[in-house]
Amino acid sequence: MAASKASPFLEPGLKTAPNTLAIASLSRDNFQPLTLEQSIGAVDGYAEGATLNTRFGSFPHSTLLDIPWGSQVRASVVDTGSRGRKRRRDEVESEDTPIPSQDEGDDKATPSSLAKAVVASSGFIYILRPTPELWTSSLPHRTQVVYTPDYSYILQRIRARPGSRIIEAGAGSGSFTHASARAVYSGYPRNAAEKKGKVFSFEFHEPRYEKMQEEIKNHSLEGIVHITHRDVYRDGFSIDGKSPEATAVFLDLPAPWEALHHLSRRKIQKGGKEDENDGSWESPLDPKQSVYICTFSPCIEQVTRTVTEMRTLGWTDIDMVEIAHKRFTVMRERVGVSLPSERGFNPTPADVNEAVKKLKSDIRRTLEFHKAQQSRPDSEVSDSKMDIDEQAPNGSPKPTPNGEGATEADEEPTFLQGRIVHRTETELKTHTSYLVFAILPPEWDEEAEAAALAKWPCGKESKTIGNIDKQARKQEKREMLASKKKKKRVDDTQASTSKS
Ligand code: SAM
Repeated sequence: MAASKASPFLEPGLKTAPNTLAIASLSRDNFQPLTLEQSIGAVDGYAEGATLNTRFGSFPHSTLLDIPWGSQVRASVVDTGSRGRKRRRDEVESEDTPIPSQDEGDDKATPSSLAKAVVASSGFIYILRPTPELWTSSLPHRTQVVYTPDYSYILQRIRARPGSRIIEAGAGSGSFTHASARAVYSGYPRNAAEKKGKVFSFEFHEPRYEKMQEEIKNHSLEGIVHITHRDVYRDGFSIDGKSPEATAVFLDLPAPWEALHHLSRRKIQKGGKEDENDGSWESPLDPKQSVYICTFSPCIEQVTRTVTEMRTLGWTDIDMVEIAHKRFTVMRERVGVSLPSERGFNPTPADVNEAVKKLKSDIRRTLEFHKAQQSRPDSEVSDSKMDIDEQAPNGSPKPTPNGEGATEADEEPTFLQGRIVHRTETELKTHTSYLVFAILPPEWDEEAEAAALAKWPCGKESKTIGNIDKQARKQEKREMLASKKKKKRVDDTQASTSKS
C-alpha cells in the first residue's frame, strides 16, 4: 500500500502548502474553507493567479502559501486582467499595481506572467489549519450536522481514543466523521491487515455518499475513514463480508431502532428473536470488548423506541443526555457620562457619585449662564452663551458632556477603562438532539469464565461466605465441635462446684 499523504486535519505541518485545505478566518464566526493553489499564470481573470475574494478584500493564494498557520494576511489590490479592463484602472490601483496583460487569453498565461500581489491599504484575514471544529463551522451543509458541543461529549462517552474502531451512520455532511477521525487516529495503517484507529461510515443517499468520498480523499483521510454506500437498516454494518470489530457506535439516523439488531453479538432479527446463522454472518462488534453506543435523535418518541429496542437486545447502562450549550461574550464595557455618545459606549452615569457630580455640574453651568446674561448688554447674550458652550467656567478646556474635565478613567489606558461585563449570545441554540447512551458487554462463555478464574482464583478462601473448599469446611466443623465440647466441660465443672 502506498504511503498516504498526511491529512491537514491530523498532521498539518508548520506552514501552509499547495493543494491542502486551509480555513480563512474572516471574523470570529465567519470561516471560509479553501484549497490552496499554486498558480503558474492568471486564473479566472486574475493576473496574480487563484484568488480568494471576501468582503474584507481579495487574497491571491500566492500570499497565503508557505506561511506559518495562524498568520495574518493583508488583502491585495488584485489585477483583474481582462475583467478589470472594464473598470477604470485608477479606481482601484496605485503606481505599484502591475499592469495586466493585454492578451485576452490570460488564463493560459505562462509562469512568468503571474503578477506579484500588491498589498492593499486595508483588509486582512487569518489563515488557519483545518480542525474538525473549524470544518464544522464552515463545511458545506448537505444535512443537519452534529455540532462541536455534542460531538465532543459523545466521543468521550463512547470512549473514542487513538486506535478505536467506530461505526458511524449516516455520514450526512461529515461533521461527526471528521471529529471522530481525529479522535481515533493512531497513524495510517501500512497495510490492509494492520489494525489502526478507524471510522467505518455508512450513508445510503448516493449523492451525499459520493460527496463524502470526494471530501475524504481531498482531506487525505482515506486511510482512517472507510465510507460505504448502504442502507444500514436493511444490510447492517459488515465490510466486504468481514467484521469491522467496532468498540464504539454512533447512529445519527431517523430510526436508529431499525439498525440496532445488526449491532448484536449473535445473528438476531429485529425485535430480538435469534436468527439462524449459517456461518456467513459475523458480528460487526469487537467480540472481546464492551461496545459503547450513542444514538442522536431530535424527538423523545424516537428515544422511547430506541431505548425499548436496546433493552430487548441486552444493552445495559442505558441513559439519555441533552447538551444545552450556551456561549458567553465577555467584554469591557465603557459606561459613564464623560464618554462620547458613540456606538460601543454607554453614556449613562457609571455610579451614584458620577450622577451626583453631573447634577452639580449642570446646576453650576446654569447659574454661570444666568449670571453672564445679567452682567452683559442684550446684544452680547448670544455670544456669552457661546462662551459657556466653548469652554469651562474656570477657563479650562471644553468639558465633556457632563461638564467635567478629564476623569480618572481617562488616565487609564483605553483597554483597561470601563467594567468587565458578560452577556449570553443573543441567539441561543437550545435543543439539538437527545443523546442515548448504552453499553453492550462481551458474551460470557465458558472460555471467559475459565480465563476469569485463572486471573482471579476463588474457592480457596476460609471463613468466608460462599466458601466452597471442602477441606476448609471440615476444619471449620472440627473447630466448632471442639469449641462446643470445651464449653460443655466448663458448664459441667461449674454445675458440680455449685452442687457441692
Ligand atoms: N452526523 C452527520 C453529520 O454530522 O454531518 C449528519 C447525519 S444526517 C442528520 C442523517 C444521514 O443519515 C443522512 O445523510 C441520511 O441520508 C442518512 N441515512 C438515513 N437513513 C439511512 C440508512 N438507512 N442507512 C444509511 N444512511 C441513512
